[in-house]
Amino acid sequence: MAASDAFVGLGSNMADPSTQLAGAVARLAALSKTELVAQSPFYSSKPVGPQDQPDFVNGAVWLRTQLTALELLDQLQAIEQAHGRERIRHWGPRTLDLDLLLYGDETITSERLTVPHAELTNRDFVIQPLLDLDPQRRLPDGRSLASLRQQCPDNNLQKLNPVARIPTPPG
Ligand code: ATP
Ligand code: MG
Ligand code: MG
Repeated sequence: MAASDAFVGLGSNMADPSTQLAGAVARLAALSKTELVAQSPFYSSKPVGPQDQPDFVNGAVWLRTQLTALELLDQLQAIEQAHGRERIRHWGPRTLDLDLLLYGDETITSERLTVPHAELTNRDFVIQPLLDLDPQRRLPDGRSLASLRQQCPDNNLQKLNPVARIPTPPG
């Protein structure tokens, strides 16, 4: 099977979110039939939905995969489970959320899967990392990410600095 470009959105607001995301990127890179092309910077953002929860950390990865979209969704959900994801309330706090944002130029509408992701165009914390990965990328309907970014609501996105590695003093 030919490989497809798949873009996966990552989010967390529990249990050290940046570490959750870094661990998820490592697991995604290790998936069979799949290679990691690039990883976006991480951003902090205000939650959508219930506001009585911590800010989120978000990012995205670009994969090239021979998995089908549904096979990839199975893998994303397995990784969420491995990170202790529990669905307590809709849009509530979570250790890890992995959403399939784009799968090649495909438009998919099935019970388990809507691609492009249904909320993509409303979320700066999704569009911005996608733009970082591929500024030229368009949705299957031809709309550019750049134009979507300008129209989308503001979730107070802040780019997070890479974690500084403080050297251990000798002795
Ligand atoms: P949102 O979809 O608004 O970001 P969420 O990520 O919190 O909300 P989940 O609880 O993670 O929602 O997923 C609910 C269901 O969404 C999953 O069981 C899955 O079958 C379905 N789903 C549909 N399209 C997608 C997609 N593109 N990526 C991931 N899950 C999807
Ligand atoms: Mg989500
Ligand atoms: Mg999800």
